[in-house]
Amino acid sequence: MASTRRGAILGIEVSQPRRAARRQQALGRRELPRPKPKLPEGPARTAEDVRAQASAAPDLATLRACVSRCEACGLAKTRTQTVFMDGTAARKLLFVGEAPGADEDRQGVPFVGRAGQLLTDIIVKGMGIPRQEVAIANVLKCRPPDNREPTPAEKATCTPWLDRQVELLDPAVIVPLGRHAAMHVLRVEASMGAMRGQVHAKDGRQIVPTYHPAYLLRSPGEKKECWKDIQLAMGVLGMPVPARPGGGSLGEAR
Ligand code: URA
Repeated sequence: MASTRRGAILGIEVSQPRRAARRQQALGRRELPRPKPKLPEGPARTAEDVRAQASAAPDLATLRACVSRCEACGLAKTRTQTVFMDGTAARKLLFVGEAPGADEDRQGVPFVGRAGQLLTDIIVKGMGIPRQEVAIANVLKCRPPDNREPTPAEKATCTPWLDRQVELLDPAVIVPLGRHAAMHVLRVEASMGAMRGQVHAKDGRQIVPTYHPAYLLRSPGEKKECWKDIQLAMGVLGMPVPARPGGGSLGEAR
């Protein structure tokens, strides 16, 4: 039973791995492993519960589990399921949208409808990388009925989930898609025109707001402006920027 062998340090009984960690710490090599924070029991039913559960979640899997049982606003009654995120932080890049639509609500994955296809084209054809290498999340984790805009109360209640998600993913660059996401990430009230087209520094991360893909589907002429924003983000990440995305242009991506 080597793994349960115990010894005493300063009169305190410690297990073998913890004793090894103490020895490492004494050598100035590493921190002692912290005990995992205990999550509150049951679903989040209030904005205060959301804040408490989000800040206590030690990892993304726990955060996802907390989000999946959230009942803190009325959207819990109309959703099919929560939509937490897609992809990974492999590229240190996070896209943040507004809220799930009907397709996302059905599948439990963000950006899988028409706007999602355009976002995928931006990532795959434009940036030249697999979609799974970036992280994709939303301001709201549940679908607002009839695809209406998120209310201020819904955003205030839900965004601690996103804020913790950002902490745990730790992206170098965040690309907020559309005004709701950009205003939350930058903590400002402003028009999209005032926010996009530049790199903002916020809390040690670089923020590059751009148009929401659903807006680009309605206003395809703005795709070239979006591509400029994406090029800015790629530059910050040190990625080579193709002059013509995917051998064509985002104007061809629908
Ligand atoms: N629009 C969003 O903002 N998010 C999604 O996940 C899908 C569409």
